[in-house]
Amino acid sequence: MHAARIGLAISAFTACFIQAQTNPLWHEQKIKNYLPHMTWPEVQDLLSRTDMVIIPVASIEEHGPQLPIGTDYLAGQERAKLIAQKTDVLVAPILLPGISPYHMEFPGTITLSHDTVQRVYFEAAQSLIRHGFRRFLILNSHGGNQVVSRYVADRINQETPAVAVELNEAVAPLLTRARPRQTQFDRHAGVGETSSGLYLFPNLVDMTKAGKNDLTLPDHLNKILPQVVEGDPTATEIFLAEGLKPKETRKHTSTREMTKTGVWSERDTREASADRGRDETESFVAAAVRFIERWKLLKPLEPLATRLGQ
Ligand SMILES: [Zn+2]
Repeated sequence: MHAARIGLAISAFTACFIQAQTNPLWHEQKIKNYLPHMTWPEVQDLLSRTDMVIIPVASIEEHGPQLPIGTDYLAGQERAKLIAQKTDVLVAPILLPGISPYHMEFPGTITLSHDTVQRVYFEAAQSLIRHGFRRFLILNSHGGNQVVSRYVADRINQETPAVAVELNEAVAPLLTRARPRQTQFDRHAGVGETSSGLYLFPNLVDMTKAGKNDLTLPDHLNKILPQVVEGDPTATEIFLAEGLKPKETRKHTSTREMTKTGVWSERDTREASADRGRDETESFVAAAVRFIERWKLLKPLEPLATRLGQ
């Protein structure tokens, strides 16, 4: 009894000692199939089971007073990690910033040019292709990156032995959850995105800073807003072509010109909930897993040696 107690005391002391010797800020768990956490033998082992990679395309930009600057980066990366726990696929984050010139009047936003972004992702894909990865799922999590994400996928298809798709587009027809009917305009950093944040990275969302938002749109855009909310495709197309553009274009549609808070929404962000975030995330993850598994069936994996031409 006495010896056991001493043993316990010693192990508790050792545990404390070890804890005291490591970084007190480190709280991450090792995540399966997540490239930054893996060793090279683990990547080699994964290559014998899959040739697929998810590349999240991120942004570092203001997301209102309640959401972190890294919202899009975190949302894409966390969704990719969740997918990779259900089916074998590598998650390879490459860049934090993306194309966000229209948020530049808010401090903290970092923006890169289209050309820089596409080159970095394409060259990263070339590295992964050299190791034997052959199927790419480009997962864009920021509206401003849409065109560049498609372009990177097309460059991979046109210029390399690999095949790429944009995952949001691939998954859209497979989503089973109906989109809730909107009655008010709600986009960047609004109720939807705040709900996702509350589910995916809850301790980084400050709901004490959430609240009502006033939009100040140019008159002609304000007039078509009700049709955009109703989902009228023509009104939505022209609204989005003109909305959220850099101040320098003099369209008066940079985020700061349309909202003081940086939230592009008519709604009160206090209406956000982790439940809605969970529903949307689970629905997306399930549809992405279905897409990936189907692709694996439609085109079975070739042995690594064949892929590398050995
Ligand atoms: Zn966002």
